[in-house]
Amino acid sequence: MGQGLSCARSGPEHEFFAAVQAGDLELVEGLLAAEPPLVHRTTVYDRLSALHIAAANGRIEVLSMILDRSVRPDLLNRHKQVMGLQCFSASVEPFGTPLMLAAMHGKIACVEKLLQAGANILTFDSLHGRTCLHHAAYYGHSDCLQAILSAAHSNPVAESWGFARFVNVRDGDGATPLHLAARQKRPECVHLLLDNGALACASTGSYGYPGSTPLHLAARGGSLDCVRELLAWGADRQQVDASGRIPYVVALKRNHGACAALLNPASAEPLVWPSPLKFISELNSDAKTLLERALTEANRQREKSILKGTACTLPSPSHSDDGIDDDTSEASDTELCCICFDQPCTIEVRDCGHQMCAHCTLALCCHNKPNPTTLCVSAPVCPFCRSSIAQLVVAEAKVEAKEERDRDGPWKLPRSRKSSRSLSDGGSSSFKGLSSAMGSFGKVGRGSGKSAGNSGMADKP
Ligand SMILES: [Zn+2]
Ligand SMILES: [Zn+2]
Repeated sequence: MGQGLSCARSGPEHEFFAAVQAGDLELVEGLLAAEPPLVHRTTVYDRLSALHIAAANGRIEVLSMILDRSVRPDLLNRHKQVMGLQCFSASVEPFGTPLMLAAMHGKIACVEKLLQAGANILTFDSLHGRTCLHHAAYYGHSDCLQAILSAAHSNPVAESWGFARFVNVRDGDGATPLHLAARQKRPECVHLLLDNGALACASTGSYGYPGSTPLHLAARGGSLDCVRELLAWGADRQQVDASGRIPYVVALKRNHGACAALLNPASAEPLVWPSPLKFISELNSDAKTLLERALTEANRQREKSILKGTACTLPSPSHSDDGIDDDTSEASDTELCCICFDQPCTIEVRDCGHQMCAHCTLALCCHNKPNPTTLCVSAPVCPFCRSSIAQLVVAEAKVEAKEERDRDGPWKLPRSRKSSRSLSDGGSSSFKGLSSAMGSFGKVGRGSGKSAGNSGMADKP
């Protein structure tokens, strides 16, 4: 992009900009000592200041030094808001702020430093009307995206705008950061944005084909991982763009067979992350990781059966199967889940203390259809004791539990409460709905799951 030195001036300015680009702190300091106004100069053609050049090239030391000289982090390049640059005309400047350049080039240290220095996250560049969030998403720098989203929670500008509005901010063509990430095949960014409230079903204005949703754009790009993410967050396979096409048709036309198979409205529905549930939105990161992995795995089982009949080969998934296998074996000394008898208990329900595996927890939460008379989604209850779920946490490992047992005596653990309560409350009835829900996993424990489940519970220590 030439943030740099195209048509730079001659003499000390050229040397100065070259030193900034190369990250030569000593030389930059020396030149600034001799001629302090250099810090406000810009390159002739690109109108880039030293701060822009340092940000784009990830020169964190130079960037910090310039910021320490109380240069504002938002040297705008457009209109006449530019500090100290009155000598230049207000020509359209395509490159935006230093923060945008750092986000575009994935220079996370510079992004963080600029955010700390109070850089405005709600500035739009003049070329496409995009924010730093758009640029991070487009270029697929999920670390920068995360840093900007974190800053947005406390940033006064985003506060006045509202966080949800900031996440779904549109560029000049009506594209949100999620549209760009989906089009550019950036599944990590797609995931992060969805997790932060990006609307899976938003339509673009004129970006891409008019009226495209992120799912249309992922279909067009042929990114199976993006399609997976979007479907798992509830993107609608039936939503049409302005020319009346559903994402399935777009994928077919572009010859993306595997994407098309998943997008075919006739193929099985994927499990959707139950984000509206309060205790799901409040999950701690460990429990969330477990449940997200279970979702991915469950949907992959579904993909296998969908793709079995087609000629498509399944490209290797973004997460390797090895990780999941490792996890299972690591947890092999924990108790088996009393519902499926297949997976270890990894999730504990608060406050009752009952435990089950991540797959069963997810099935419990995902298959909770709205009540047909009230259309309200009722929150699921603990399948063992039917008490309401206040929180889901990662179940403590057995080793730890044992130590605690040695220390506190054998019957002070929540687990001991569980067996007695589930017996007296007749937990068996709540198993029926759940085990039918579990059907979608394709690995519903071993054979007579239901009756085994009951006796298994009674046998618990
Ligand atoms: Zn289970
Ligand atoms: Zn319970």
